[in-house]
This record gives sequence, C-alpha cells and structure tokens, in this order.
Amino acid sequence: MTAMSDFLPAPATVNLAGHDVAPIAWGMWRFAGADVSVARARIDAAFEAGVTLFDTADIYGCDTPDGFGSAEALLGRVFAEAPELRDRMILATKGGIILGTPYDSSAAYLTSAIDISLKRMNTDHVELWQIHRPDLLTHPQEIARTLEDAHKAGKIGAIGVSNFTTAQAAALAKFLPVPLVSHQSEFSPLHLAPLFDGIFDQSMERGMAFLAWSTLGGGRLGDPADERTRAVAGLLDAKAAEYGVSRAAATYSWVMAHPARPIPIVGTQNPDRIREIPQAFAPRWTRAEWYAVLQTSMGENLP
Ligand code: NAP
Repeated sequence: MTAMSDFLPAPATVNLAGHDVAPIAWGMWRFAGADVSVARARIDAAFEAGVTLFDTADIYGCDTPDGFGSAEALLGRVFAEAPELRDRMILATKGGIILGTPYDSSAAYLTSAIDISLKRMNTDHVELWQIHRPDLLTHPQEIARTLEDAHKAGKIGAIGVSNFTTAQAAALAKFLPVPLVSHQSEFSPLHLAPLFDGIFDQSMERGMAFLAWSTLGGGRLGDPADERTRAVAGLLDAKAAEYGVSRAAATYSWVMAHPARPIPIVGTQNPDRIREIPQAFAPRWTRAEWYAVLQTSMGENLP
C-alpha cells in the first residue's frame, strides 16, 4: 500500500534571493530572431501561465543573424513598448561567455558586460545575475569583488552561478560578502548529474535556489529518438495520462518533486505550450514511480 507521504508534490513557491517566485521559470535561449509582437506574445503567455522568473543571457541569440546580445536586446524592445512588464518580472541574466575565447570573468570584462546587458534590456538592474560558465583563469576573489561592486551599485540584486561545480561555487561564496543565491545546471529525466555530483546537496545545505536548464532534454523528450528516451517518455506519458496533462507537464512535475525544489526553466517559444505550464502542478509522484523514471534513465537499478 502507498502511504500519503509517498506522494511527492510540487512546491507552491520557491525562494530566490528573498523573492517568492513561481516554481517554474521561462527561458530566452531560443528567443532572438522574433519580431517584437511575437516576443511580446510569448512573454504575455508566460505571465498568463503564472511565470514570475524570466531567464536570459547576453550570449543568447549568438546563433542568429543579429548575434551576441540579441535576445537581451529583443527583451529591451519589448520593455520599451510595455515598460510595465519589467516590474512584474524577477529578471535573471548571465554573462562571462565569449564565443571563441571562451570564458572571461575578469573584473574589466564582467563590469562592462553587466553594464551593456542592462543597457540592451532597457533596465537599470536585474534581480539575479549569473556567471554563465566558470572562467578557469580568474581568481574567485576577483570575481567576488567585481560582483560586490555591481551589487552595491544596485545593478544586480543577487548573484548566482551556472554550470559550476560545488567546489567552484564554494570558492566564490567564500569571498562574497553576500550569499551566493543560486545554481543553474542542466537537469532532466535524461540528464541526472545534479542528483549525484553534489549540486542538489549543496543547494539544500546553503539554501540556494536551483534553476534547471533543458528540462525536456533540449526537446529530445518531445520527440524521442532512441530506446532510452522512448522508455523514459513512456513512464512520463503514463503519469501524464493519469492526470490528463502533457508529457512536458509530467516532466516538469518530476523535476520539481526533488526536495532541492529545482525550478524548471521552460524553453519552448510556442505560446500555446507556454500556456500549458500550470498543468505541471497537477501530477504527484509516488516514490516508486519517481525512482522508476530515474532508474529507467540510468539503465540500471539503484542498489
Ligand atoms: P527544453 O525545454 O529542454 O527545450 C525546449 C525545446 O524543446 C524548444 O526548441 C521546443 O520547441 C522543443 N520542444 C519539443 N517538444 C516540446 C514539447 N512537447 N513541449 C515543449 N517544448 C518542446 O529547454 P531549453 O530551451 O533547452 O532550455 C531552457 C532554458 O534553459 C533556456 O531558455 C535558457 O534560459 C536555459 N539554459 C541555460 C543554459 C546554461 O548554460 N545556463 C543552457 C541551456 C539553456 P518549441 O519552441 O517549438 O516548442
């Protein structure tokens, strides 16, 4: 028999740097290249779905003709047309990747990258600024000083890291006078690393939020192309059918059931799919069902 405590629910809200944010965020990796009205429709759909945390990065759009900075610039054009939208958002961006370098977290580079990001987005601050990837050639003390200055100047409300190891995050946190508030790493039923590499444990230990990128495997779960993905999708479909929701919604609910309370960053740019986000709050997972998805993805049972 299944005890009630076996059902793992999604959280109502998640704390991020003192803000209670909706437990599902929306991301702008694939945002650039649209015109302003299309961009606005996506953002409106996200608000309609209850999203409050919006994630972008200075590099998003580098794969489009408009290049580096174009996703932030498009958001800036949306804000220029509808300034009231900015105040309704907890806005997160990132910097520190330069195509071809590939990383720079030096004081000079980050200081100017933050200023240029804000200018592109037509805003004077972001609630969360994240180092996009660890720069192996900058001492964490230098990064901490740079970000402390930007924080003191009111340009960045809080500091997070993306694609950092636990040791890299701890080293930076040691030099920061303010808390390091978030990790952002890949996590999905197809990409399980944070469960085992200490990232979730560190998030819980330090009270850091965890933002999960590519929760549908970058779209692979929408269109499974191999045996393993099909097997995982089959279990997600069974849960989806039980609650009358989409496979994507069942996937987000599986992600949110972990006690680190991962915040899925939804990547779809399709307004109809964005509007389906609230479906993800319905499914509940028993322990056995949740572990079955994990073990199917791993291709082996836990001991
Ligand atoms: P994802 O949700 O795993 O993938 C989204 C892609 O899947 C879209 O191209 C979408 O197409 C497609 N898709 C296929 N079937 C779908 C379905 N049934 N429902 C929804 N989408 C479906 O996420 P992602 O775009 O890879 O990443 C999400 C966000 O994470 C990004 O926007 C960004 O904010 C963040 N991210 C961060 C990093 C980092 O290094 N920090 C790296 C990657 C991403 P349609 O648009 O046509 O629906």
